[in-house]
Amino acid sequence: MWDAEHVSSLVSPLVDHAEVKSRIQAIAASDSPVIRVREVGRSLEGREVWDVTFGTGPTTVLMWSQMHGDEPTATSALFDIYEYIRLHEKEPAVQQVLSALTVHTVPMLNPDGSERFQRRNVQSIDINRDALLLQTPEGRLLKSLRDELNPAVGFNLHNQSWRTTVGKPPKGAAISLLSVAYDEERSVSPGRLLTKRLGAVVRDALEPFALGRIGKYDDSFEVRAFGDNLTLWGTPVLLVETGPWPEVNPDPMLLRLNYTALIHALHALADGSVHKADAARYDSLPENQTGGFYTIIRNVSIVTGTGIPSFTGDVGLVANRRVRIEDGKRVLVTQHSIDDIGDLRTAGGLFEVDGAGKVLAPLRPGAEVGTELALPAGKWDSTIVVGAPANVMMLAPLPDGRYRVERVFRGTT
Ligand SMILES: [Zn+2]
Repeated sequence: MWDAEHVSSLVSPLVDHAEVKSRIQAIAASDSPVIRVREVGRSLEGREVWDVTFGTGPTTVLMWSQMHGDEPTATSALFDIYEYIRLHEKEPAVQQVLSALTVHTVPMLNPDGSERFQRRNVQSIDINRDALLLQTPEGRLLKSLRDELNPAVGFNLHNQSWRTTVGKPPKGAAISLLSVAYDEERSVSPGRLLTKRLGAVVRDALEPFALGRIGKYDDSFEVRAFGDNLTLWGTPVLLVETGPWPEVNPDPMLLRLNYTALIHALHALADGSVHKADAARYDSLPENQTGGFYTIIRNVSIVTGTGIPSFTGDVGLVANRRVRIEDGKRVLVTQHSIDDIGDLRTAGGLFEVDGAGKVLAPLRPGAEVGTELALPAGKWDSTIVVGAPANVMMLAPLPDGRYRVERVFRGTT
């Protein structure tokens, strides 16, 4: 359904406040009988924050996305969910959602952070550590929405580091869940039981697409965080974190997973099936770990370019996505760097490269796949060392002592 019906941009980090605003205005102009839009406040720099609401039922749900400005996936997924509701509003399953639930959604809580593609707001405060002091206008807005609506359940929608892994051997954690605790004892109140059951619903919905890539967070109580405090204030919260996906363009699949997770959760809340879900399906999710790599080149002979003899090992590369503003437009850049060298057998990579029988060396100027070259002795201009940009080439030895370039990795893509 998502493939046929989504309206979201396929590269969610490129969606800025202006795009959210134009989509919100289009919803408002459509005079939809089921989807309402209202401005609920402004960011510190004066950007609008909206609540998009559907349904008129007795159970109130609150979802908010992009409290961290560089965590955009669920923002686009929410616009796809509004479209799902709009397209299917006459069908019994959506009628049930609209009559059982009132769903309030804040698609972009931290527009100033989004504008800079940074986690924090313009005060450099992490809004998710401002639930008690309420020094950020965005945090105050979320608190006042909670107090106004007193939702039965909340969904706190984020992205997590691409280094997050799950399972053994470790795989990149595409989606991680947390039934948020409200005390040091991690007590299970009826509200926490509900979010555990919702976690089970989401797990069951996503496993056909992301088996082995769904994890859960350690449920330690964080006294300053919104999820923990909303749960304490009477709105139990399910945290949903979107992580990496092993494709060069991961956003479409990550959007699909968000869309599927949220639609299943809404239907389970609306038809009551959530109360029959088995919380053990949440509890038995494997816990997240960290330290995964974007690419691991294994068992390769490494020519470092620093003048030392070559040696055999694994090379782990990490990737970080940044959005730059160039000529007023958002441009997505991925920076790859060398993060570890040695025996990385306990680690996982989103992309695994078998380097057996091959040589890894710093990328030579002009070298491309198919280039044949000799390797200079001594020190090179660029080197393979931890912390360096991942400008490297994988080589196959030729009988004449030269090498053919088989793969090229670049530090910026
Ligand atoms: Zn976050």
